[in-house]
Order: sequence, then structure tokens, then C-alpha cells
Amino acid sequence: MTKIAIFPGSFDPFTLGHYDIILRAMPFFDEIIIAIGENSSKNALFSVEKRLLMIEKTFAQYPKVKTESYQGLTVDFCRQKKAHYLLRGLRTTADFEYERSIAHSNKTLFPELETVFLLTAPEYSFITSTIVREIYKNKGDISGFVPKAISDF
Ligand code: ADP
Repeated sequence: MTKIAIFPGSFDPFTLGHYDIILRAMPFFDEIIIAIGENSSKNALFSVEKRLLMIEKTFAQYPKVKTESYQGLTVDFCRQKKAHYLLRGLRTTADFEYERSIAHSNKTLFPELETVFLLTAPEYSFITSTIVREIYKNKGDISGFVPKAISDF
């Protein structure tokens, strides 16, 4: 059976922390779909279309990695894509508490779905999309926080 993982998130913007999680998860799966959730209540800086293009450019040389956007429940998107793995990154204990509730809820809604967590690489654990947005909005240099394809965008 093809092992398909969904990596859901806002990715506003996609950071080096997200990038590291994908690169490290790649050996475990046949396909990874980076899925931009469109129903987030967060105030977006980059449009979904721009985020899709930025991420596609970042992984242009990795055929295993696809990028899509979705609306509605993440579990419904997983069912639609026949994905049985949900990939998430963990930075802090706060992330863990939040992720635990989501993972248990998703498991209740879709019992065949396993959430797989990877710990953030220590050098990227301080990076949040929120901080990157603030730097960008104030015309700071984001090149130390995002993949080159994104800072060049
Ligand atoms: P969400 O809105 O779902 O939190 P994010 O785009 O902020 O979406 O994050 C998507 C996933 O990436 C989450 O699992 C989050 O924990 C993880 N993540 C966020 N920042 C980092 C980082 N610096 N290193 C590793 N994982 C991260």
C-alpha cells in the first residue's frame, strides 16, 4: 500500500523548521502532501495561492512532495487523499499539549489515521511563522528563517 502522509498547517509562510520536518520525514513515506488549510481563523499575510507557489518552488526537485490547499476538516482531506498518516512537528511542551488534543480528536474521527510527530531540529525550534511575518511586515531580512526559494520569492 502506498504510504501517503499529509503535513497540514497554515505555512504563512513556510519556514526552515517546516522544511526540516519534510526532509527528515521523506524516507518514511512514498508521498508527502503539504496541505495548506484554508479555514484557519488566523489573519493571513500571504495568500493561499502565493503560499502554494512558494512551497512548490521549494520542493521542485522532490517528486515525492506535493502541495495542495484544502477546506474543511483535515481528516476529510486525509480520507479524500487516501492518506493514513498525519505529519506534525513538535517544538515545545505547549506544542505537545495542543497537538495531543488534535491527534486524539482526529483519531476519534478517523481511527485508521496515525499522527506521526517529529521533534524540531534544535537550531530551528525558535522559528515560528508568526515571528517571520512580523519581520517581513517590518521589512526585516527573513533569509535566516525560511528556505531560499521563499526568501527569493
Ligand atoms: P498550524 O496553524 O497548524 O499550527 P503551522 O504552519 O504553524 O500550522 O505549523 C504546521 C506544523 O509545523 C505544526 O505541526 C507545527 O508544530 C510545525 N512547526 C511549526 N514551526 C516549526 C518549526 N520551527 N520546526 C518544526 N516544526 C514546526
